[in-house]
Amino acid sequence: MYRTHTCGELRLSEANQNVTLAGWVQRVRKFGGLTFVDIRDRYGVTQLAFNQQNNAELCEAAEQLGREYVVQASGIVVERTSKNPNLPTGDIEIQVTDLQVLNASKVPPFLIENDTDGGDDLRMQYRYLDLRRPSVQKNLILRHNIAQEARRYLCNLGFLEIETPFLIKSTPEGARDFVVPSRMNPGQFYALPQSPQTFKQLLMVSGYDKYFQIVRCFRDEDLRADRQPEFTQIDCEMAFVEREDVLQTFEGLLHHIFRYVKNYDLGEVIRMSYDEAMQLYGSDKPDIRFGMQFVELNNLVQGKGFKVFDEAELVVGIVAKGAADYTRKQIDELTEWMKRPQIGAKGLVYARVGEDGSVKSSVDKFYSEADLQAVATAMGAEKGDLIFIVSGEAAKARKQLSELRLEMGSRLGLRRPDDFKALWVLDFPVLEWDEEDQRWIACHHPFTRPKNAATLLTENPATLKAEAYDLVLNGNEIAGGSIRIHERELQSKMFELLGFSPEEAQRKFGFLLGAFEYGAPPHGGIAFGFDRLCSILGGADVIRDFIAFPKNNSGRDVMIDAPSSIDDKQMNELKLRLQEITKA
Ligand code: ASP
Repeated sequence: MYRTHTCGELRLSEANQNVTLAGWVQRVRKFGGLTFVDIRDRYGVTQLAFNQQNNAELCEAAEQLGREYVVQASGIVVERTSKNPNLPTGDIEIQVTDLQVLNASKVPPFLIENDTDGGDDLRMQYRYLDLRRPSVQKNLILRHNIAQEARRYLCNLGFLEIETPFLIKSTPEGARDFVVPSRMNPGQFYALPQSPQTFKQLLMVSGYDKYFQIVRCFRDEDLRADRQPEFTQIDCEMAFVEREDVLQTFEGLLHHIFRYVKNYDLGEVIRMSYDEAMQLYGSDKPDIRFGMQFVELNNLVQGKGFKVFDEAELVVGIVAKGAADYTRKQIDELTEWMKRPQIGAKGLVYARVGEDGSVKSSVDKFYSEADLQAVATAMGAEKGDLIFIVSGEAAKARKQLSELRLEMGSRLGLRRPDDFKALWVLDFPVLEWDEEDQRWIACHHPFTRPKNAATLLTENPATLKAEAYDLVLNGNEIAGGSIRIHERELQSKMFELLGFSPEEAQRKFGFLLGAFEYGAPPHGGIAFGFDRLCSILGGADVIRDFIAFPKNNSGRDVMIDAPSSIDDKQMNELKLRLQEITKA
């Protein structure tokens, strides 16, 4: 037997027992005739004690141990004379009677501790060592727990976990496909699924009325800081449901996960329309842990001679509570922050409400004290508050102010990682106009049901609203879905609106259109971004820390060095050379 206990298990209650532990050497310390070795496994750390006087040979062997050696130690559990209250096993140590080195280790390239000296790249290159660190293990354990609770909740409701294929044909979720060449069909390619969307809809046609899958999805997107080319969804679909059924089922899932994984009562999941979210927060995924709602000021500030505001489609502001003591320097710095290309504001107007109730602004030239008081009143600003105002084209101004709102929320400590609030955002537009391609594209995907399905081809496409919903947690979209189109004719109309020719629609989605001719039930579903959900519950920003073997920001796995070129033989087999394809 390699071990009787784990390295995190022993307490005073086991004193005087003979035990055997196995683990990795964390540290070796020598105090005169005594040597202490901390050994670690994923359950914790236990101190091994060696006494020169009792057994000189064993003591010397212990001194020879290097960091990350794998050892097995047997001995007796004894109460420590100097206890370590920071360690669950800190009341005891093992007086070792036998020590075996199971395997030696090179000196690791960084410290295998929570506070490591290893930089990102190094830790990714040696991810198998990084994964030994308790802080990373904690994240993967959390991930496991969330997955188990999601399964438990869904299975209890009668959902079936069904796998769908990875080697498929394009599923439109708005990104590029990763493709896989087919050796047996030269010149032809599979696409890896961007989501199981079409398959889960087919499962509804097949009568599996509650489906879920914790599934990998693949999207070849230009990598933004926190996107992974392969990521995991909790993918779900239900038949014979209306929007309300879906919302209740899946806010139930979120409540369940919070309750059983974090022992946290998430409280009410409020609902807000997309239009309202944009108007009040300038975002379709507002962080509602704090107020700072937008107030539109066109009526109050236009026509007073300040050209910037007069010419703007929208003048809109927020109040930062208690921030009137922001110095000029701090505000200048925020203004510069807003002007960075990522945000692109032209400027930032501010006004302070002083302790005497007076309002002083950066545009005093144009506005009387009474004008400014009216603005402050309209915005609900009180003594000691700081007002920020941006202006311009409505969509841009909202987006810019939304960034500022989040930034101020963070600066004022209103976005605590241990505080959670969720909401549904509903009634998204069906379509958005793609300037580059000069055509309508689906906001969600082409299978989403418009609210007034009958008017699909007669109404102005810009005003169509969808039976779509997003679940937003702390300012992150953690899930999104919709009620689907289940009628062939309507689905064809939608493809038409999206600029597909009937032939193209048939070629790409003929299988789905065909299935809709054989009794497709009304259905709808949702998919959770599982990695993101884990990171939020773990109180962290970076999803990479919640994935065992993630890719870096350039989409590379630096540990195995992928992607990489393949040898000529493989290239030839796959007929990947133009010449070969022509021949074939
Ligand atoms: N397939 C969608 C997505 O990946 C989710 C859904 O509509 O269920 O976003």
